[in-house]
Amino acid sequence: MNSKNSTMIELAPHNLCTGCTSCANTCPHHAITMQADGEGFLYPAIDRNLCVECGLCTKRCPILLPEQQKNESSPKAFALWSYPDRTVSSSGGAFSAFARSVIKKGGRVWGAAFVGKLKCRHVESDSLDGLAALRGSKYVQSDLGSVFSLIKEELQQGTQVLFCGTPCQVAGLQAYLHKGYDNLLTLDLACHGVPSDAILQAYIKKLSVKKGINIDKFEFRRLNGWGKAPAVEIRGKLCPIYGIDDLYMRAFDRSALFRLSCYSCPYARIPRVGDCTIADFWGIGRHGKPFKQNVLKGVSLVLANNKRQITKKEKKPYRN
Ligand SMILES: Cc1cc2nc3c(=O)[nH]c(=O)nc-3n(C[C@H](O)[C@H](O)[C@H](O)COP(=O)(O)OP(=O)(O)OC[C@H]3O[C@@H](n4cnc5c(N)ncnc54)[C@H](O)[C@@H]3O)c2cc1C
Repeated sequence: MNSKNSTMIELAPHNLCTGCTSCANTCPHHAITMQADGEGFLYPAIDRNLCVECGLCTKRCPILLPEQQKNESSPKAFALWSYPDRTVSSSGGAFSAFARSVIKKGGRVWGAAFVGKLKCRHVESDSLDGLAALRGSKYVQSDLGSVFSLIKEELQQGTQVLFCGTPCQVAGLQAYLHKGYDNLLTLDLACHGVPSDAILQAYIKKLSVKKGINIDKFEFRRLNGWGKAPAVEIRGKLCPIYGIDDLYMRAFDRSALFRLSCYSCPYARIPRVGDCTIADFWGIGRHGKPFKQNVLKGVSLVLANNKRQITKKEKKPYRN
């Protein structure tokens, strides 16, 4: 039976909490677990029997205690397209270009992959082959689980780590770590917003029934390059989904399905939270110099948000 009737600890309000998991990973008493609300979004829940009210969770919350932003207010912008990654990536293959460089140095790369029955989770790879599962935008909130704790262990062992995620996930990781690591590189995505896993699962289930097939593979976009339809695998072949069947992406594009915090996202601005930001380079060539590449094959926008580079010469931490 719960001996405490109330707790002094108050986490970020429901409409602002991004579900970054920093508090759950931080709690030394394992008193915080992430639990789904009615719409399937994960929020921290405190077990009052385990909570000793130390308040550490609130000190590692990027919403309650935002870190002072030290990134550039006018970051340099680059257009990037990476062969052969762009043909298998969401835009120009920027993520793969960074990931290759880290893996070649013996490092580890964290990104979102579909695991099991189309469950989007953050997983790691230390091989170039392993990058395939991480590539591709999954337009749903990924489950971070205890990823931040694992990353901290890797960083403390001196492993080079690349973390790619939504800006709120990057901010959560930074708040959890609470200090800069020379061997960590963060990439934040220009993020439109995230629906919940429950919404995606409900959509996939309806689509399966309508098409009379089991859907084990779903691609949000990749089939034809930019502006493309999502696709499902039917008898080993990827088939695009159009019209009424494409309800999920239509609602996504119209910002109708997002987590509450996405509608007042504090990270959708410059300065950005990650060391670099990656996005689709929509509109390249429309202003200034004409762009001679085929933009329909995908071009990434990369913002270099600070001056740090991963080199052996780097000695000082970039943040405190
Ligand atoms: C939810 C979401 C919304 C986005 N909204 C926009 C937008 O409005 N405008 C825009 O320009 N770009 C947006 N992007 C980014 C864009 O889709 C591409 O991911 C980006 O341009 C990088 O392209 P790439 O070729 O390097 O991608 P890829 O090689 O396809 O790599 C994508 C990277 O994103 C990570 N990732 C994929 N899904 C998720 C997820 N659910 N959560 C966390 N990380 C994930 C992957 O692990 C990988 O590291 C969004 C991405 C996501 C996941």
